[in-house]
Amino acid sequence: MTTKAYGAHAADLPLGPLNITRRAPGAEDVQIEIAYCGICHSDLHQVRSEWAGTLYPCVPGHEIVGRVSAVGSRVTGFAAGDLVGVGCLVDSCQHCAECADGLENYCDHAVGTYNGPTPDAPGHTLGGYSERIVVHQRFVLRIRHPEAQLAAVAPLLCAGITTYSPLRHWRVGPGHKVGVVGIGGLGHMGVKLAHALGAHVVAFTTSEGKREAAKALGANEVVVSKNAGEMAAHVKSFDFILNTVAAAHDLDPFFVLLKRDGAMALVGAPPTPHTGPLAFNFIMKRRSLAGSLIGGLPETQEMLDFCAQHGIVADIELIRAGQINAAYERMLAGDVKYRFVIDAGSFGA
Ligand code: NAP
Ligand code: ZN
Repeated sequence: MTTKAYGAHAADLPLGPLNITRRAPGAEDVQIEIAYCGICHSDLHQVRSEWAGTLYPCVPGHEIVGRVSAVGSRVTGFAAGDLVGVGCLVDSCQHCAECADGLENYCDHAVGTYNGPTPDAPGHTLGGYSERIVVHQRFVLRIRHPEAQLAAVAPLLCAGITTYSPLRHWRVGPGHKVGVVGIGGLGHMGVKLAHALGAHVVAFTTSEGKREAAKALGANEVVVSKNAGEMAAHVKSFDFILNTVAAAHDLDPFFVLLKRDGAMALVGAPPTPHTGPLAFNFIMKRRSLAGSLIGGLPETQEMLDFCAQHGIVADIELIRAGQINAAYERMLAGDVKYRFVIDAGSFGA
C-alpha cells in the first residue's frame, strides 16, 4: 500500500516528503495507522550516517503510536481499533536464547524499525515518520494510557524503555542514590522513572537553563556538570549512574562519583569514543562501567503499564512534518523540553 512518509535520500540532504510501500498484512501482521512518532537522537545519528551503514532512502522513527487498522488471520492479541505502539524493533529470529528470554533487543538477528534487513521494498525497513506501518504481532505493544495522552506516550517506546530497562536491571529503588547524565529525551524519562521507582535522583546537565526544569521532572538535586565544585560535592556517593549523553565526553568526572561497587551504564551512542575512566578509578572502589540497549518486548510492555499506572508520559513539543529538519537542529542545540513528537496527520498534508 502506498504510504506517505518523510525521509532523506543521502546523509547530507534534508528530510523531505516521499512515498513508500507497506506490505499487505501477512497472517502474523498488525497494520497500524500511525498517529504520532517521536524524534529520537538515534534518528539523527542514522539519517546523517553518523553511524556506519545507513541505507537510503532512510525513513527514521521508532517511537510510534497509533491505531490498528487490520490484522492477519493468526493475530490473537490485537483487533482493529486498538491503541498500540511500536518501538525500535519490528522482528528478530524468535528462537535464539535471547528471544526465548524475551530479550529480542539482544538477538543477533533483531530487525530495527528502520535500516534493518527485510524482504519488503526497498530491502531495508522504513520507520515511523510515515502514515502507516505493518509489524509482526510479537513486536506490537498495547497502550493503556488515556487516548488524550497518546502523543506524549510515543517517546516511551524508545526513550522510556531505554532508561527503564537499566534502572530495573541495576535494581534501582528506595534507598538508592541515582544519577542521570544528560537531560534530553532519554534523560528526562530516566529522571521521571527513577523517581517513580523510589530512588533519590540527581540530574546532571550541561545546561544552566535546565536547573529548575529538571527538578519539576522529579530530580531531588540538579548538578550543572561544568561546575567542578558542584561535582566534587557528590564524590563516592552514587549507587548507579545512567549516562544518556549523545556526544563523546570524559567519563571520569562522573565515574568517580560512584561509591564502592557502584555502576555507570552508558545508553548514549555517540559515533566516536569517550575518554576515561582511569584504571585506578575502577580498581579502588570496585566500580563497573556497562551499557544497555533499549529493552525486550515483555519489559517494554511492563514499562508502558508501569507508566500508565503512575500517570507517566514524556514532556513533548508537538510538531508537523515540515518542521523535522529544524527540530533536528534544535535537538543538537539542546533546545527541546524534552522530546519532539511529529503529528503523523501532517505527512500527507
Ligand atoms: P537528546 O534528546 O539530544 O539528549 C541528549 C542530551 O545529552 C542533551 O540534551 C544534553 O543534555 C546532553 N548533551 C548533548 N551533547 C552533549 C555534550 N557535548 N556534552 C555534554 N552533554 C551533552 O538525545 P536522546 O534522544 O536522549 O539520545 C541520547 C543518546 O542515546 C543518543 O546518542 C542516542 O542515539 C542514544 N540512544 C541509545 C539507545 C540505546 O538503546 N542505548 C536508545 C535510544 C537512544 P543537557 O543539556 O542536560 O546537558
Ligand atoms: Zn530511539
